[in-house]
Amino acid sequence: MRPLRALSLDLDDTLWPIEPAIAAAEASLHDWLHAHVPAVAAAWPPPAMRELRTRIARHCPEIAHDFSAQRRLSLAHALRACGADEAQAEPAFEAFFSARNRVVFYDDALPALTRLAALLPLASLSNGNADLARIGIDAHFAVQVSAREAGVAKPDARIFTALCQRLGCMPAQVLHVGDDPLLDVAGARAAGLQAAWLNRTASVWPGPGPMPALVFRDLGELADWCAAHLGAD
Ligand SMILES: [Mg+2]
Repeated sequence: MRPLRALSLDLDDTLWPIEPAIAAAEASLHDWLHAHVPAVAAAWPPPAMRELRTRIARHCPEIAHDFSAQRRLSLAHALRACGADEAQAEPAFEAFFSARNRVVFYDDALPALTRLAALLPLASLSNGNADLARIGIDAHFAVQVSAREAGVAKPDARIFTALCQRLGCMPAQVLHVGDDPLLDVAGARAAGLQAAWLNRTASVWPGPGPMPALVFRDLGELADWCAAHLGAD
């Protein structure tokens, strides 16, 4: 194993399951629309709003990496289509976004974060739009990189390169850990980082490429591995 100087963590489905958070956020948005612009809530229930965002993302590749921009554009479109005030898009987005950041951590996540942050600098690297300050864990991270801010999404090598520059590390000195074989493992490897797969679901490695030498079932195992390889925690 080459010497490690920093650890990069994916967020969604690595620290918390994302689907329940998105479902709750969509419900919160719907409640807000129902209370403030009921015609929009009636015309765009959550499945229709989800479909609209997908359609807008397809038509606007320049914001393919920015879920917040897609969500704001979708809301402006839905409001406009119902003759409502487009300025309502911002408070409506806030109703969604505040719920999206009320995540429920995997049981192992917070204890592992505390242990890991004591061992080496931590970075977050996410294609999503989680707000670590709102979630309350930003103090653990020396560096935060999102697709929204980098302008490209994983598995594009440029987002991994940007992360390493922010950390002041060579790519080979950074271990990136995430749940997604393509976005996290293949993306990190292609950019020259070390890569580990977080396999919470006991899945068979689907590729691309060979399964990495480092596979962890949860973040506690990752913290154990780091403690053994980087000194006692
Ligand atoms: Mg993930």
